[in-house]
Amino acid sequence: MSDARTNLRAGLIGSSIQASRTPTMQMREGAAQNLDYSYEIFDLDVMPGGPASLPSLLDRLQAEGYAGVNITHPAKQQVIDLIDDLSPDARAIAAVNTVTFGTGKRVGRNTDWWGFAEAFRRGLPTVPLGRVMQLGAGGAGAAISYALGQLGAGEVWIYDLDEQRAQVLADRMNQSSESTRFKASFDIARDFVTCNGLVHCTPMGMTKYPGIALDPDLISPNHWVSDIVYVPLETELLRVARAKGCQVLDGSGMAVFQAVGAFEYFTGLPANPDRMQSYFDAFELA
Ligand code: NAD
Repeated sequence: MSDARTNLRAGLIGSSIQASRTPTMQMREGAAQNLDYSYEIFDLDVMPGGPASLPSLLDRLQAEGYAGVNITHPAKQQVIDLIDDLSPDARAIAAVNTVTFGTGKRVGRNTDWWGFAEAFRRGLPTVPLGRVMQLGAGGAGAAISYALGQLGAGEVWIYDLDEQRAQVLADRMNQSSESTRFKASFDIARDFVTCNGLVHCTPMGMTKYPGIALDPDLISPNHWVSDIVYVPLETELLRVARAKGCQVLDGSGMAVFQAVGAFEYFTGLPANPDRMQSYFDAFELA
């Protein structure tokens, strides 16, 4: 087993992760705290067996004394069948992005939702949350719905090109939420005008998927706009919203705080969020 402060090892398992900023954030924060901490990439694309090698990879890392691993696309759901305990938030979201081995048991958790919630609290601390439009009901969208519930949203309308996906997510979230009502939206033009703000969770706006996922004319200066896309940080959606005078939040905070949460699970020590943000920003400029 790894000692609490020496030979601490963790890593990231997923596909197409060579350009991920998470290893840099994790390693630099470990160095800043004088920890003997390493964080490796385990790219399923280059593993013999591909994504099917996940079970044996987890077995190996646990046997070798790793503190834990982050899990990303395409394994966040697949890993659920390979762990012993699931945290209540990961169960509600139906996705795991952090596995710890520390107690001899594999525990699956989700720091994506907490990352978004923490970034939102800091970046948009005073915006109204009576009615929120969420665009996108995929893997990240499930974490955002859960976060909006934890942030105290009154109603969350979920819109997705795949209407059934929006409905399934809304139904699932209603099962785990006591005070937030989740509804699928099938007419974004009609429903968005009644909303206080928007959280965008589709791939639109990424460098490889340019554009905006809704008609920009629907956005008014009274709306706040949060985009979880972070490549690039200034998406077309944020540019339009900023130009209209909306309060906006980019996707960097979610990426930073998911790493802050995971660092604490792996090392037992709190990470410094401002330092983590500076590592993320330096990567952006590199
Ligand atoms: P995904 O493929 O699982 O889901 C995307 C969903 O968007 C799908 O359900 C799809 O039907 C829907 N969609 C696509 N285009 C649409 C449109 N024009 N209108 C309405 N719905 C549309 O992807 P994901 O894993 O949920 O990730 C979504 C994006 O979130 C990623 O591209 C990434 O940029 C971002 N992300 C950011 C962070 C972060 O830390 N900031 C973390 C995870 C994901």
